[in-house]
Amino acid sequence: MNVGLFGGTFDPIHNGHIALARAARERCELSRIYFVPANIPPHKQRAPVASHFDRYAMVALATREESAFLPSLLEAPTTVATPPPGKKKQSEHGVAGANYTIDTVRRLKQILKKNDRLFLLIGIDAFQEIATWHEAEALFQECEFIVASRPGYSLADVANSLPKSLRPAPAVTKPFARQPAKGDLALKGATIHLLDDVHQPVSATAIREAVLAKRPLRKFVDPAVGEYIKKMALYRRFSSDSTRR
Ligand code: ATP
Repeated sequence: MNVGLFGGTFDPIHNGHIALARAARERCELSRIYFVPANIPPHKQRAPVASHFDRYAMVALATREESAFLPSLLEAPTTVATPPPGKKKQSEHGVAGANYTIDTVRRLKQILKKNDRLFLLIGIDAFQEIATWHEAEALFQECEFIVASRPGYSLADVANSLPKSLRPAPAVTKPFARQPAKGDLALKGATIHLLDDVHQPVSATAIREAVLAKRPLRKFVDPAVGEYIKKMALYRRFSSDSTRR
């Protein structure tokens, strides 16, 4: 079985995320995709605005009609206050502190079958920082990547984003500079499937700004997510780092 793992802040989840997941499901015949709201994303400087609970609830609402899309608590904050002596804080759902994607991948693999193939879904903006992620090389060993590309990016941009040890020699990537970031890239130690024409002009930042400006959200989010944001009065207060990267 082919399984997708889609991690994000999802603050809130929006139509761009869902479009990426749908395209990935079709392209790589994914039987299921786990949507994992991050607890504390270690590669982002700012903390999420909405709580993990609210972000998970919105993910559950946005994925409710797709049987292959599963909201996941793999990175939920722990509920255990005092860990047993000598043990890391742990609950049935998650581990305390920062969650690294490699830990989430390993945790998910514990419940998958040996023959299952795991694919990590990611946008090209986030992929460009992948070399800075914790145990980046190990991530490429554990899973294949599905990267949502955007016009203007080349295959060389993708290859040059890889951790140094996996990056092909400049002589190999030179011709990539003229090729758009589409198709499949099978390199020694890394397999990357590129989705072109998926990126939608929407971001969680723009949605939080729209809430502050009292603009309608219907173009950006599932109606149930829009209702939830309204009902729970999310994103109404300006915070210096809530609407800016
Ligand atoms: P923010 O604006 O708060 O930075 P975001 O909209 O980028 O948030 P994230 O939760 O940070 O959303 O993104 C999760 C993943 O989805 C990342 O891999 C990101 O690259 C990808 N992604 C975000 N927006 C889009 C989009 N419009 N189209 C395709 N992929 C996207």
